[in-house]
Amino acid sequence: MRGFEQPRLVRLAARPGTIAAGPRDGRLQVIDALHKAPYRDLASGEYIWRPPYPRGKPRRRPVRPNAQGHFDHLRPGTPAFSAGATFAAAACVLDIWEHYLDRRLRLRLNQRQRRFELIPRVRRLGDNAYSGVGYVEFGFAGEDPRQPYCENLDVVAHEVGHHILRAVIGPTPADAAAFEHQAHVEAAADLVSLVAILHFDRVVAHLLEETRGKLYSRNVASRVGEFRSEWSGRLEARTAFHDKRLEDVAAARRKGDFHTYGRPFLGAAYDVLVEIYESHLVRRELITRRLARRSGRATARSGRALRREFAARYRLNPDGFADALREATGDFARLLARAWQQTRPGPDTFARVAGHLVAADRRLTGGRYRRVIRQAFAQRGIVARSRRP
Ligand SMILES: [Zn+2]
Repeated sequence: MRGFEQPRLVRLAARPGTIAAGPRDGRLQVIDALHKAPYRDLASGEYIWRPPYPRGKPRRRPVRPNAQGHFDHLRPGTPAFSAGATFAAAACVLDIWEHYLDRRLRLRLNQRQRRFELIPRVRRLGDNAYSGVGYVEFGFAGEDPRQPYCENLDVVAHEVGHHILRAVIGPTPADAAAFEHQAHVEAAADLVSLVAILHFDRVVAHLLEETRGKLYSRNVASRVGEFRSEWSGRLEARTAFHDKRLEDVAAARRKGDFHTYGRPFLGAAYDVLVEIYESHLVRRELITRRLARRSGRATARSGRALRREFAARYRLNPDGFADALREATGDFARLLARAWQQTRPGPDTFARVAGHLVAADRRLTGGRYRRVIRQAFAQRGIVARSRRP
């Protein structure tokens, strides 16, 4: 992923010495299993077996911290580095989202399982990553042993995102509501990842350089999760979520393809983030209100003049743009966290979550983004459902 070509150092909100060899803490544990068969059947998702990974089964030695309790001595390109990176990414995503959710999450485990398993390198998963009750496990991009998915923060964040959403919203309903629930979870796990990667200064800097500050464009952030569509050969989904409305993905519903069906929701949420960001740019007087008004989904591709104007403003104060994006990311994450906490499994998930975003905004900002949220979702064919009659 661009902006992540080099390993990034991750600082966790844990005191030195609290992360033991593994790495492992009270909740998460890396198990570098060898010759492991996937827990679930790749095609059907059926469980073949389940965590806990038995003590007698082959595995690499747990990776030890250095004398100061850190893991930053591990060398890239080694299995030990993969193990450290997987733990760091998963723990970091949990840290970030527990901050916005303002609560400690309990990850669901199997019977007799003490800790949630992170399994960094599973060859037999192929070009894939997978999660289920009590675990996440990772294959390799292009099945290339030098490209472990466990070292890709976006991939780890998406998989951990599934577990965060399960803990916050609840299980998939067993009826006709299941499909849209699952489509929402796929989109929402991508949003968990988007917020997480925007907490890395290098990603923010890269994103703004790439777009010259104009986020209504095709860029590293708008493309989060795109490659996941390739895993199951859904190539048409690679056009990403830019212009997708719910009616455009009706065929996905018939085919039971909940990844593609979630794209309009993801696109609407991304537009909300961009609108919040532009409103912070206006408030900081980095762009004019007029420029923000002209910038929008409709002019994302056209508008060379608009792009030039953004670029000119960006060059004057790149740091200001970065601060605005960080602030917007925080606002956006708080809205999502609150909306998800209000959401329970049930029918019409998209409309309900959109409505909960409007309600969250009323509580958190007095309704500053009400119009923005309603419009972004309406443009995708999702009508925010109000809880007020
Ligand atoms: Zn997923």
